[in-house]
Amino acid sequence: MSRPVFRFAPSPNGRLHLGHALSALVNFERARASGGRFLLRFEDIDTERCRPEYEAAIREDLAWLGIAFEEPVRRQSEHFDAYLAALADLDARGLLVRSFATRREIASAAAAATAEGAAWPLDPDGVPLFPGDAALLTRDEIDRRAAAGEPAATRLAMETAIEAGGVPLTWTETGEGPGGHTGTVTARPEAFGDVVLARKETPTSYHLSVVVDDALQRVTHVVRGADLFAATAVHRLLQALLGLPEPVYHHHRLVLGPDGRKLAKSNRDTSLADLRAGGATPSDIRRLVGLPA
Ligand code: GLU
Repeated sequence: MSRPVFRFAPSPNGRLHLGHALSALVNFERARASGGRFLLRFEDIDTERCRPEYEAAIREDLAWLGIAFEEPVRRQSEHFDAYLAALADLDARGLLVRSFATRREIASAAAAATAEGAAWPLDPDGVPLFPGDAALLTRDEIDRRAAAGEPAATRLAMETAIEAGGVPLTWTETGEGPGGHTGTVTARPEAFGDVVLARKETPTSYHLSVVVDDALQRVTHVVRGADLFAATAVHRLLQALLGLPEPVYHHHRLVLGPDGRKLAKSNRDTSLADLRAGGATPSDIRRLVGLPA
C-alpha cells in the first residue's frame, strides 16, 4: 500500500505566525504517526505579494520547529500551465463564465441594496455573492469592456457545474470543523455562487490551484485551519468535475489573538521570528498553540 501524503501549503507573503505553527506541527505529526510523507508547498500565485525572502524565512521557521519536509518544494507560480489546462477542460464543457464586474462593483451593488433594506446573500467567508454581470452592468458597458479588450475574471458557472459534478457530494472529515463536524460532511458549493477560478491579474485562483496540486502531488490527507472548512465544498466539486482523487480532510481549530480574532501575517507580535528573537523555544511555541510539549 502506498504511504499517506500530507502537505503544509503556506503563501510566502509574510512571516509565519502561531496559526501556521499549529498547522505545520499537526500536519507533520500526523504524517509521522501514520508513516506518511510530508511535503511543503509554496502557494505563491499572487506573484506581487509573494517573495523569495519569505520562502527562506518559512524554511528557517520550520527547521527551528524541528519540521523536516521533502525536496524539491513545489512552487505554484512554476505551474500556471497545469492550472490553465484544468481551466481549458472546464471551459470545453461549458462550465465557466467570464465576468467584467470588479470586486468593488459587486461590493458596492451589495452595499447599495443592503442600504435600501434588500438582502444580498453572502458566501461562507462573508463575501457578497456574484449576481452575474447583467445584474451589475448595462449591456452597453459589458459590450464596451469586451470591445476594449478589458481583462475578465473566469468564474465557475456554479449551477451548471453542480449538475455536471453529480450529487450528493461529500467529504470525509477527521477534524473538528466549525460545527464540530466529523465523519461524512455534505458539500454545499452553491453557498459560494460562481466562484472565481482565474483572476484578471492571475491566471488561476486559490481554489483551482489547490485542487490541481493536491492531485498532482498525490496528497491523501489535507490538514489545514477551520477557516477553510467551507471552501472544501468547492474543492470537492472541482475534484469531481476534473476527475481527481478525493483526499481525507482534517480542519483544525484556529489560534486566535488576544482580541479573539484569527491571526494575520501583519500581526507582528505573534510571528515565529519575533517570538524566537524574544527568547521563545520550540517547546514554548507548542505550549502557546495548545499542543502537548
Ligand atoms: N495557502 C493557504 C493558506 O496559506 C492554505 C491552503 C490549504 O491548506 O489548502 O491559507
